[in-house]
Amino acid sequence: MLELEEALAKILSVLPATESESVPLNQAHQRILAERLLAPINIPVFDNSAMDGYAVRAADVQGANVEAPVGLQMRGRVPAGENFAGEVLPGTCVRIFTGSPLPRGADAVIMQEDTRIDPTAPETVLCLDTIKPWENVRLQSEDIKRGIPLGEKGEVITAGRIGLLAAMGLNEVHVGRRPVVGLLATGSELVEAGQPLEPGKIYESNRLMLATLLEQAGVSARIYPLVVDTMADTQAALQKAMDECDVVVTSGGVSVGEMDFIKSAWEQLSGDLQFWKVAIKPGRPFVFGRCRGKYLFGLPGNPVSAFVTFLLLVRPALMQWQGATDVALPVHFGILTEPLSNPGDRRHFMRVIVDAAGKVRSAGAQASHILGSLAAANGLVDVPPKTTFQTGDTVKVLRWE
Ligand code: AMP
Ligand code: MG
Repeated sequence: MLELEEALAKILSVLPATESESVPLNQAHQRILAERLLAPINIPVFDNSAMDGYAVRAADVQGANVEAPVGLQMRGRVPAGENFAGEVLPGTCVRIFTGSPLPRGADAVIMQEDTRIDPTAPETVLCLDTIKPWENVRLQSEDIKRGIPLGEKGEVITAGRIGLLAAMGLNEVHVGRRPVVGLLATGSELVEAGQPLEPGKIYESNRLMLATLLEQAGVSARIYPLVVDTMADTQAALQKAMDECDVVVTSGGVSVGEMDFIKSAWEQLSGDLQFWKVAIKPGRPFVFGRCRGKYLFGLPGNPVSAFVTFLLLVRPALMQWQGATDVALPVHFGILTEPLSNPGDRRHFMRVIVDAAGKVRSAGAQASHILGSLAAANGLVDVPPKTTFQTGDTVKVLRWE
């Protein structure tokens, strides 16, 4: 049985190198940059106004105030998107708007609220406040200078970054290829939603749950039909998924019972088992294998075991597959409002609820078949063997949303 870190290191060490592909920017959210990206242009592209007001020469309005306003002759206007042909000469100004190019000669913008139109001379703008050179001006390249890196290989493309790339005029970006992931659920007791429940049967729930987690990791899943617990069915299902996908994620059938066929079926298809069993709770019987460039992640069938092993062992693998440098789950530190106790001899990833104030409490019963507390939870706390975290302790909460 491997420790969690050993298991993860094993998985990450045998995954293939990332391939890259080009995607349109509107499909790039959450993708991983495949190369360092350099800014093709400056932002701002040109000096422009940060305010609605008047483009002036700062020296002209030195010392102006409400009692002693300075009058400037208005020589025209420059709406956003246009250019002012002339020049702001001493003693003059130009009406300007947020984002309009700063006219030649001007070196500041006085905001509209600090001016008044002279009622007796409508072409005269009275400036009611003094101003420093370059005040209310957004300078060319003060945000992004042409040639600087906009992102590094391995970084995630966030909404903010999409805004930046769009502002650069880019409409395509190089990202890591996503794996095609097949989802199988094994178990002769499983029934599809919408079908009647015969005695002894239960509705299958792992595939959709895992598909949702996959989507959060930026991967869309192929969902395969339910697999009954026979060697022949398990082999046929694995073979088909393996032919069509890069990665096969299964649930159930990895324990020690004689109805657990995943490991032996995989080996029959000439796959290898890199390891079986990880020293965590829930999720001990997790299995990982390889077969001719294809990968098997065999998750235990109990819903919480499948959920937790997906987050701890499959998600980081899929992130690395896409080229991500940081494959860890997001974390949140919080303060316990009740003890969390693990009397067992394996690390227990306990379901918790962390609220907006950072208070952390148990999400309820912690057995690996309890879906109610999984549905209520928004985090996991890693409690070491034979350990109790006390009320008031600061704990690290692993998140997935
Ligand atoms: P197994 O890992 O196959 O021994 O299954 C462990 C437990 O999880 C059993 O109670 C199964 O009925 C249940 N289980 C397995 N797969 C699923 C699934 N896809 N959806 C809901 N429950 C499942
Ligand atoms: Mg089973």
